[in-house]
Amino acid sequence: MATGKIIIITAPSGSGKTTLVKRLLERCPQLEFSISACTRTPRPGEVHGKDYYYYTETEFKKLIDEDAFIEWEMVYTGKYYGTLRTELQRIWNLGKSPLVDIDVQGALAISDKYRKISRTIFIQAPSIEELRNRLVFRGTETEHSLEERIDKAKLELTFAPRFDKIVINEDLAIATTELQSVIEEFIN
Ligand code: 5GP
Repeated sequence: MATGKIIIITAPSGSGKTTLVKRLLERCPQLEFSISACTRTPRPGEVHGKDYYYYTETEFKKLIDEDAFIEWEMVYTGKYYGTLRTELQRIWNLGKSPLVDIDVQGALAISDKYRKISRTIFIQAPSIEELRNRLVFRGTETEHSLEERIDKAKLELTFAPRFDKIVINEDLAIATTELQSVIEEFIN
């Protein structure tokens, strides 16, 4: 049962979301990062139970059968991601609000279910070219997965108007402050 509020952030891969989310968590003690489950392999430095709960596809499918997810999706080819009911409850039990960092479909699915207690925010990179530059700079993608991420970003952009708030991440400090005020206004 939902007992608190939910902040849902969506942003195309490479839009600078991870840095923004990190800053927000430092500034807003009322927020706690909602750790998603996924089946992709951890990137260097990522930790199970901190960045994601990493599962095999078999384990993930068992969780689907047990109705453990509020939403789940195959975000990229063969890669499943989902928000566990137990994760939101864990955070509400701390007296905090989960900061859910998920893709467009997941964001809209959660906010449809929890309209009154959720706020959806879309983080937009200044342009697709800038997004491509950031992804190339990050160096974690193959040529194929880079193109897949850019195609998805273009598609996601068309959904931005369905979000409660759009924040353009051109200047990190400005975007962080803008996000913080939207979130605090909703939570407090
Ligand atoms: P990455 O592999 O770069 O960590 O994440 C890939 C995409 O999956 C991002 O757009 C991220 O927001 C999305 N994602 C992460 N967790 C979830 C989740 O629990 N559900 C859904 N639907 N998408 C998620």
